[in-house]
Amino acid sequence: MNKFIFVSGGVCSSLGKGVSASSLGALLEGRGLNVCMVKCDPYINVNAGTMSPYQHGEVYVTDDGAETDLDLGNYARFTSAPLSRANSITTGQVYDAVIRKEREGRYLGRCVQVIPHITDEIKSRITAAAKEDPDTDVVIVEIGGTVGDIESIPFLEAARQMIHECGRSNALSVHLTLIPEVGGGELKTKPTQHSVQAMQEMGIQPDILICRAPAMLDGATRRKIAQFCNVDTEAVFTSYNIDTTIYEIPLIFFDQKLDQVVLRKMGVESRHADLDGWYSMMKHLKSQQGTVRIGIVGKYMELHDAYKSVYEALFHAGLDNGVRVELVKIDSTPLEDAAGVKNTLDSLNVNGILVPGGFGQQGINGMTNAARWARENKIPYFGICLGMQVMVIDWARHVLGWEDADSSEFNQDTRHPVISLLEDQQEVKNYGGTMRLGKCGSVAEPGTLILAAYGEAHIFERHRHRYEFTNTYRKEMSEAGLKLSAFTPDGALVECIEWPDHPWGLGVQFHPEFKSKPTAAHPLFRDFIAAAKKKNEA
Ligand code: GLN
Repeated sequence: MNKFIFVSGGVCSSLGKGVSASSLGALLEGRGLNVCMVKCDPYINVNAGTMSPYQHGEVYVTDDGAETDLDLGNYARFTSAPLSRANSITTGQVYDAVIRKEREGRYLGRCVQVIPHITDEIKSRITAAAKEDPDTDVVIVEIGGTVGDIESIPFLEAARQMIHECGRSNALSVHLTLIPEVGGGELKTKPTQHSVQAMQEMGIQPDILICRAPAMLDGATRRKIAQFCNVDTEAVFTSYNIDTTIYEIPLIFFDQKLDQVVLRKMGVESRHADLDGWYSMMKHLKSQQGTVRIGIVGKYMELHDAYKSVYEALFHAGLDNGVRVELVKIDSTPLEDAAGVKNTLDSLNVNGILVPGGFGQQGINGMTNAARWARENKIPYFGICLGMQVMVIDWARHVLGWEDADSSEFNQDTRHPVISLLEDQQEVKNYGGTMRLGKCGSVAEPGTLILAAYGEAHIFERHRHRYEFTNTYRKEMSEAGLKLSAFTPDGALVECIEWPDHPWGLGVQFHPEFKSKPTAAHPLFRDFIAAAKKKNEA
């Protein structure tokens, strides 16, 4: 039988519930257990695919093409738990499924209600996710939102039922709260007490509390929290503020014996802990020397979460190259004209430019100009999805001299639609889940940067886009020097392009950022940062 751990949050949002759940997953994996990670999201969108990055940060894509919440990216970076559409459950999916069944008459005339029909659907989805891998030992279920929110009640109720049905040693509640500091540095436990009371009102007694606090809680504070909240003192943990990296959190929890307490409460015999990968990652962090400055030119710059996996992958690549990566966030809109490009990019002193993915016309010409600037000034450049498409537009406009060249996403009337829709995308009307999504194969050509990075020709990466390199321009583009360096296995689509006579200029149609880990940087990010480092040293 699987063991379940339900991770909930109280007091306020943004306490790092996803990172805490992921860190716990990492610790349990370190103890040799197979972990399954599930995210329950209380929003009514069927998935995150239709949400603007401003609303909800990045959309994380799984191999099977699910457009999920960015917390799945944390799970992927901290653990090796397999992730698919089964691991992301939203209110939208749950109601959609229940309403479909009701229309099919499958409830046999009964009145369909939140309890038991919605909660049953949630429970069966959690159980189904656990069964995706027959070797799963522990299922960590993160419940989005904050206890007390109307939206998350059905998920907490499903958790309550599962804890009751499985028995306390098979299902635990881990609750994350905030210990604020007020006045002259006094730590306040009252919000935590109230948050635990809100859990108890839902019928759930937390077994373990993780308290987000400015500094490590002392014994007296932990005892006080334990006493008021009905938990053991040894089960009160601190997630204190750190200035290193979120990847230190598994080690911070390990030092406090979080995994030991969890194993004991679940009746799993203690095993040797292997956290070598995490310790060596911290060693790499401490031995980094120097800094490279990477300009990220995009349009969702105010919100760190919008390009989360890209930023994390750059950090991983810095660890691998022994150099700190400083992110210089550049809004593409002011780069639309030549003066803007010069004023901004010439003075920023960046060692590399990265243009990430995106949708819609705003800021496109600025991104195209940034690509041109990097090409002409021989600054390492990495284009991801839209970032590759703007490389193509730049090449057509400024090397081939087709001034009106564009993607048909932005200009339907251009005479040179160098990026365009595939035929099977032309009739698509529905926005959810209709792009080219998920894992696809590519084959790298000999003598290319992409082949050098991966060290093998056959590559598997994830996609999330509608538009493609227009095949009718292949000949003219490559005769003008642009290298078409990887294709789909059937040769039908261009997957990677590279600039000639340039230190490192590469664009990919897929999203490599989703597969990078702190303990294993993605090869393209690694080589991009290596090129930027070289540029800096030169
Ligand atoms: N908007 C572009 C497309 O749909 C690029 C998408 C992306 O960068 N993810 O093809």
